[in-house]
Amino acid sequence: MSILTNLNNIKENINKACKKVNRNPEEINIIGVTKYVSIERAQELLNTGVFDLGENRAEELVDKYSHLNSRAKFHFIGTLQSRKVKDVVNKIISIHSLDRLSVAKQINSRSEEIKDFFIQVNLSEEYYKHGLKINEVDEFINHLSQYEKVRIVGLMTMAPHIDDEKEIRSVFKQLATLRNAIRDKKLDHAPCEYLSMGMSNDYEIAIEEGATHIRLGSELVGS
Ligand SMILES: *Cc1c(COP(=O)(O)O)cnc(C)c1O
Repeated sequence: MSILTNLNNIKENINKACKKVNRNPEEINIIGVTKYVSIERAQELLNTGVFDLGENRAEELVDKYSHLNSRAKFHFIGTLQSRKVKDVVNKIISIHSLDRLSVAKQINSRSEEIKDFFIQVNLSEEYYKHGLKINEVDEFINHLSQYEKVRIVGLMTMAPHIDDEKEIRSVFKQLATLRNAIRDKKLDHAPCEYLSMGMSNDYEIAIEEGATHIRLGSELVGS
């Protein structure tokens, strides 16, 4: 399938999901996850007008950054080791997977500007090992206030890759509830307005539950 065909199908599904819950489809940002695909395929994605790209490995990101045109905006979505921060920090616009202070500290000392972060929350501990537990998030955010280049724009999670729609939905609902609580504190360093949730197999459910950033790999660019 061409990426454009995939994108048009996805946009149709986004519109349907938004309609169900009375949301404006323009609130939904598509991040094309290019971690599985070649530079040529990533270029094809840029040609369709999707400029937000998600990568989960530093080396791969640096390689794509050097070959793709400057309209590409990179989001780091994987586990970032502190020692690799310097390689990517000034090539990315955001990190969706912050769960360690050491990474925030490194970014703070090496970034040329304020960076947007999503804190990764683990609401499916039997499936994933990364991300903070729900009861660790408040304290983590308090610690981050010392880093002036770190701005928490939202929360991120991954739902388990299962068929049980109820369980997936419950994960997204929990993330939205936590986001609301943090947003309502109106912290300067943590406006926390956004929800990065929803992947190829569950983005429609995520949108119904309030996702603002969906991260699509296989369904959009193939795997
Ligand atoms: C790989 C990956 C995605 C995309 O997964 P698909 O199921 O292919 O859409 C999204 N988010 C994260 C954090 C990933 O690692």
